[in-house]
Amino acid sequence: MFEPSDEQRALIEATRGFCMDRLGPTAEADDEHERFDRAHLAALGAQGLAGIATSEAYGGLGLGYLEYAMVIEEIGAISASWAVGIAVTGLPQRILADFGTEEQRLRWMPGLASGELLGAFALSEAGSGSDAAALKTTAVRHADKWVLTGSKYWITHGGVADLYIVMARTGAPGPKGISAFLVPGDAPGLSFGRKERKMGLRASPTAEVILDGVELPLDAMIGQEGGGFGVAMAALDSGRITIAATAVGLARSATEYAARYAAERKQFGQAIIDFQGVGFMLADMATQVEYSRLLVHKAAWLRDNGRPYGDVAAMAKVTATDAAMKITTDAVQVLGGYGYCKDHPVERYMRDAKIMQIVEGTNQVQRIVIARALKRRVGA
Ligand SMILES: Cc1cc2nc3c(=O)[nH]c(=O)nc-3n(C[C@H](O)[C@H](O)[C@H](O)COP(=O)(O)OP(=O)(O)OC[C@H]3O[C@@H](n4cnc5c(N)ncnc54)[C@H](O)[C@@H]3O)c2cc1C
Repeated sequence: MFEPSDEQRALIEATRGFCMDRLGPTAEADDEHERFDRAHLAALGAQGLAGIATSEAYGGLGLGYLEYAMVIEEIGAISASWAVGIAVTGLPQRILADFGTEEQRLRWMPGLASGELLGAFALSEAGSGSDAAALKTTAVRHADKWVLTGSKYWITHGGVADLYIVMARTGAPGPKGISAFLVPGDAPGLSFGRKERKMGLRASPTAEVILDGVELPLDAMIGQEGGGFGVAMAALDSGRITIAATAVGLARSATEYAARYAAERKQFGQAIIDFQGVGFMLADMATQVEYSRLLVHKAAWLRDNGRPYGDVAAMAKVTATDAAMKITTDAVQVLGGYGYCKDHPVERYMRDAKIMQIVEGTNQVQRIVIARALKRRVGA
């Protein structure tokens, strides 16, 4: 865990080179113009990077979450938007692998794993974010179909995905009345609100998903009726590892960029990195990247080894994303006025870091998860 194997190192290096060549040249312009370039997905898919942890039987690379975290860090180091894109299109694959029928898996997973199809995960609503179990979208069962009505807010890939996993209410209020559904992107009755204009993650489209009497076959449900909240929470436990890995990549790039700049920039006749005030800031940034990665890798390792990992994934998410916010803010500081302008990528890193503290459960919600686990551990 402290040292990548030869295979892992080769994967990291290949992904790093690929991302620099393929995503690097347009990362700034994609952010500036809020451009979601589907050709990037095809290219990532062709490298096997859209289905890293999906089994080979369904078209993935069949690797573990540790390798998944390593790959996402590399993508995140170049483009947080695309690291999140790969993490989000990975969620339906995870859900299908863990809860889907064989027929559902064969229908969707190979396309998602190859990057030919794009996936989305639709839990949040305008009135239910952190309190996801309060969702109001309904799924009503008829003799031969389900009919879904409601609206999902803030959906990454809203309007461009081929498959949405939609959580809807099939029973009483609360988490036990929720079920999960597979909704194809071209389902009649599915439409999309305006694309959100965001502070960061601007190459990743976010939009409202509107379900106006969407009719689905009875076998569109994933898992058991009333089991949808469990499906969503399990997916988010895994997803937190990938969001944390994105934050590590982002923070690493910010640290390295700022360090290079500080070694070249001279004031008062010397490189600013040699002023203790700047050198110490960079030292703290480098330290935070290292310990964030260790925690991300530990969460992934626990998952790969079939151990409970939810609370450690929450710790990794809090640690890595809070660190990324601090590190990217300090990177702007190291560059001074130049850091505040678009000629350098650190201002993008800082804008992209902020959302990592919010998505897949805010960092306050992660602390609730950690505190509950701690309470259980002490037997209270
Ligand atoms: C760019 C972007 C992409 C997203 N992608 C998706 C997606 O693909 N799918 C999806 O389903 N959702 C998605 N979301 C939604 C995201 O998961 C929610 O924004 C998030 O869960 C927070 O919900 P909220 O925005 O309604 O904030 P709220 O829940 O209203 O929270 C507001 C504040 O109150 C705090 N708070 C709330 N409850 C508590 C509590 N019990 N204790 C302490 N503090 C609390 C929160 O931490 C936060 O600081 C996305 C959001 C954004 C901005």
